[in-house]
Amino acid sequence: MDRKHSYPNKNKWYSGKNNSHKNFNQNKNEETQLKTVFETHICEYCNQPIEELASAIANKDTGNPAHFDCVLSKINETEKLADNEKITYIGQGRFAVVFFENPHDLRHFTIKRVIEWEKREATYEWRSEIANTYSQVK
Ligand SMILES: [Zn+2]
Repeated sequence: MDRKHSYPNKNKWYSGKNNSHKNFNQNKNEETQLKTVFETHICEYCNQPIEELASAIANKDTGNPAHFDCVLSKINETEKLADNEKITYIGQGRFAVVFFENPHDLRHFTIKRVIEWEKREATYEWRSEIANTYSQVK
């Protein structure tokens, strides 16, 4: 049924000339430039590169960025958690041990203790690096 829409001469028509689509590759360069904006940081806990610097947490000892998950498991190693207690991030470089009365109801909890992980007065170079890059974009 589709036959009546085919054009038998099409191939002949194009094969006679050289393909001169030279603009085709230009977009590739822009992509690689965007990726090199950030200097690659290596997490000192797992030695893997940090893809999302914006969600990184400082290594308490060195001040260098580390994976959020790596810091979390580090805290889990040192904190002794009771039943129904869990470590959660509460913002501004702080974690907290929270207690769930009912582990199936995660909306109701009490904060048992706050862990000041990042020094509050510290300014981390890699974090201002993010800020600077964003302000340059705008
Ligand atoms: Zn890590």
